[in-house]
Amino acid sequence: LEYSSKLEAKSAELSNTARQLREANAKLTQLSLQKDAFLSQVSHELRTPMTSISAFSEILRDTDGLDEAEKTHYATIIHDEALRLTRLLNDLLDLSVLESGQVSLNMRDGNLSDVLDRAEAAALAGSDRPLLVRRQRDEERFALQTDLDRLAQVFINLISNAQKYCNAERPELRIKVRAVSDRLLIDFVDNGSGIPPDSRSVVFEKFTRVSGEKAGGAGLGLAISREIMQRLDGNVSYLPGKSGGAFRVILPLATRMAAQELRA
Ligand code: ADP
Repeated sequence: LEYSSKLEAKSAELSNTARQLREANAKLTQLSLQKDAFLSQVSHELRTPMTSISAFSEILRDTDGLDEAEKTHYATIIHDEALRLTRLLNDLLDLSVLESGQVSLNMRDGNLSDVLDRAEAAALAGSDRPLLVRRQRDEERFALQTDLDRLAQVFINLISNAQKYCNAERPELRIKVRAVSDRLLIDFVDNGSGIPPDSRSVVFEKFTRVSGEKAGGAGLGLAISREIMQRLDGNVSYLPGKSGGAFRVILPLATRMAAQELRA
């Protein structure tokens, strides 16, 4: 009897191991498919600017009698596409560093107001599309203890997305902050038409674009932002229930801030 129950236990153990192997195998197949999909997306994204660069440089080289305005026009296209490629490669590199977990964080003390000031200036400098940014007066009281540059990178992305995609006649972005227990909630809500409900969960995936294909992004900004927020022990997500584009960044409060809040 003892022998047969030992045998049963052994057989259960074996079938468990077999199941684990099957699962590991399925996971590997899935990863390999994801990698293939990623490579084909990257190649596609690289091909578009490369094609215009080679086509327009050929025109510049081979066409006689172009006037100055035409030359400038083609050279400008080549330059813009080269910049687009550089941005794309930088984003891909950044994303791969973040995903590999090899990123070194530079944790510092700061305050939210400064980081938002910096991000707003950087985001708006990149484009002449109008965007009115409405901020809260008491931002300075929110102390941070985080990687301030990486956090600014997330804010820049959200502000420039509002600038690129907000389709309101007078585009506006409201940034609202509040502390809830030991966390800071920072909401970015614009007055455009936002993201349709069925696309909200996928916009944080690589290469996802819902609208504004022509705005020049490769669909990596939100994927990078999500990776950064995870590294900072926080999160960024779509905020449902608003009529416009709406995103919420969650960040742990600096410890000294949490203590102050408790005393208040
Ligand atoms: P991209 O580099 O294309 O801007 P993101 O990852 O930053 O990529 O954003 C993904 C997609 O989400 C965008 O292409 C756009 O379709 C949509 N999106 C992001 N922010 C907004 C917003 N504030 N309003 C409407 N759509 C947005």
